Amino acid sequence: MCGIVGYTGTREATPVLVEGLHRLEYRGYDSAGVAVLRRGKVGVTKTAGRVRDLRDRLAESPPNPATVGIAHTRWATHGEPSDRNAHPHLDTEGRIAVVHNGIIENAEQLRARLTARGVELVSETDTEALAHMIAAELAAADSLEDAVRAALRHVEGTYGLVVLDRTRPDELVVARNGSPIVLGVGDGEMFVASDVAALVHHTQRVVFLDDGELATVHPGGYRTSTLEARRTSKEPTTVELAADDYELGGHSDFMRKEMAEQPEAVARALRGRLDDRFATAHLGGLGLDPMALRAVRRVKFLGCGSAYYAGQMGATLVEELARIPADAEPASEFRYRDPVVDPDTLYVAISQSGETLDTLAAVQELRRKGGRVIGAVNVVGSAIARECGSGVFLHAGPEVSVASTKALTNMTVSFAMLALLLGRVRDLSAAAGLRVVTGLRALPERIEEVLADDERVREVAKRYAHARHMFFLGRVRGWPVAREGAQKLKEISYVHAEAYQAAELKHGPLALIDADMPSVVLVPDDDLLAKNIGTIEQIKARGGPVIAVTNAELPAGLADEVLRVPRGEPELDPILLTVPLQLLAYHIAAELGRDIDKPRNLAKSVTVE
Ligand code: GLU
Repeated sequence: MCGIVGYTGTREATPVLVEGLHRLEYRGYDSAGVAVLRRGKVGVTKTAGRVRDLRDRLAESPPNPATVGIAHTRWATHGEPSDRNAHPHLDTEGRIAVVHNGIIENAEQLRARLTARGVELVSETDTEALAHMIAAELAAADSLEDAVRAALRHVEGTYGLVVLDRTRPDELVVARNGSPIVLGVGDGEMFVASDVAALVHHTQRVVFLDDGELATVHPGGYRTSTLEARRTSKEPTTVELAADDYELGGHSDFMRKEMAEQPEAVARALRGRLDDRFATAHLGGLGLDPMALRAVRRVKFLGCGSAYYAGQMGATLVEELARIPADAEPASEFRYRDPVVDPDTLYVAISQSGETLDTLAAVQELRRKGGRVIGAVNVVGSAIARECGSGVFLHAGPEVSVASTKALTNMTVSFAMLALLLGRVRDLSAAAGLRVVTGLRALPERIEEVLADDERVREVAKRYAHARHMFFLGRVRGWPVAREGAQKLKEISYVHAEAYQAAELKHGPLALIDADMPSVVLVPDDDLLAKNIGTIEQIKARGGPVIAVTNAELPAGLADEVLRVPRGEPELDPILLTVPLQLLAYHIAAELGRDIDKPRNLAKSVTVE
């Protein structure tokens, strides 16, 4: 789930590993550790705590000039966060060291089997079992890779794995199933990581492992094969990420930086994709010609968390612009409810990282049942991008903050283009299409305007930061925006927030309205303006404070606070209305002194069940 770094080469390994862990810190974790190998001895240092605690602990021990090692940040699934449960884990002899991301589902069984054989397990983790199992396989195996392969035959679950063997001084073996592993190819040195963020300072030449693949890594190169021991041949690809994409560049935190990057990120998503002549969009990666686009009878968006809400915004756009039925569903539910897969539906799998396990599993379920699924993914080369084979890249640039901002905005922008394209092969007129094209093109500037209102949002945030609960209310276009606004507030400020369709209020939740229950109401200037004004009046009549987010002229004194967004094309209002809610959540979290980029209990890409 969290971070893995490995190194073999000529440099001192520990600083390379610790620096790599620092670059993965944004993903959220609870403990950290390293193991380095020198002169046949594995030295392990680990701690429940931050990477800086690990660094302090390392500083207390004598320097170790080892040039090979593995490192880990853990997000506990089996056993509490503690020094003992932190990775790397060793076998009884201390020969094998393992770091692991993911979950071994049959861990209990494997641990019981080991105990029955007299092995003493020293941690509560699923991972430790792997170290003992690999060590046991070594006797009969020709290579470390074979031993890892043999051990993994007994394993059910997900893993990104790096293994070090005391008797092989410069070799690492890695394996992937459901948790990302990428190799970085250097000059006479090799890197391993769970995320390119840990590599781009060293090399831009990378190899993404597929699920069910293993690799043996030496300073001079690597060799890949499958779990069935078939060789695979993989050439490095070049990642176009600059190292400073992962730097704060003067911002106080990544969320702030990434909110500020939205105009530029949207411009990038639109680049080369808008067509004035035919008033449509070009999405080359979809792999659907006009006939195939016409054959689509329904669109279903699948995503988790904010990606699901972005999907809901996408569904509204598709229904409005293309007039075909569309909806969104949490990918995490879809996979488990034995879904009816319809051959005329276009399924869209949405994931910033492209590694979200629940969404990947939904894609696999769809493909198994012959469904047509495209990806909407930010990270090129990621598992969902590869599994789908076609789709829309979001081009948001690396997103480091756990709370998604620019990736979410680019999802909705991409769905607006998809809706436009689907509309224009049907009945959306050229004039209406051009209106949307023009609206999309104006978005970066309009988002800039919303961001410029930062100080005003901060003042409002200060006034409401100590509320214990908040409502977020919207109708139709405003409803997914309200859900996303509530989610953002919850995840980074830990203030309880609930979203409702505004009309649902009177069917129950209105009972909660009083002076201590502020409501954020989304009021786009559309056909439902009068209804939304009515909602605000109902709340005010019961003494509830109201923050209106709007591009309409509201009657003076109606709401306690008004956060304004510029007027644009009404279908695109959700994109603009989302931005003040990001700022509001951000400033409330800041006011409450939260660790904004690393909210408690959360991780950036959720590669576990
Ligand atoms: N399941 C392992 C543990 O709890 C690894 C968790 C992770 O991905 O960090 O130790």
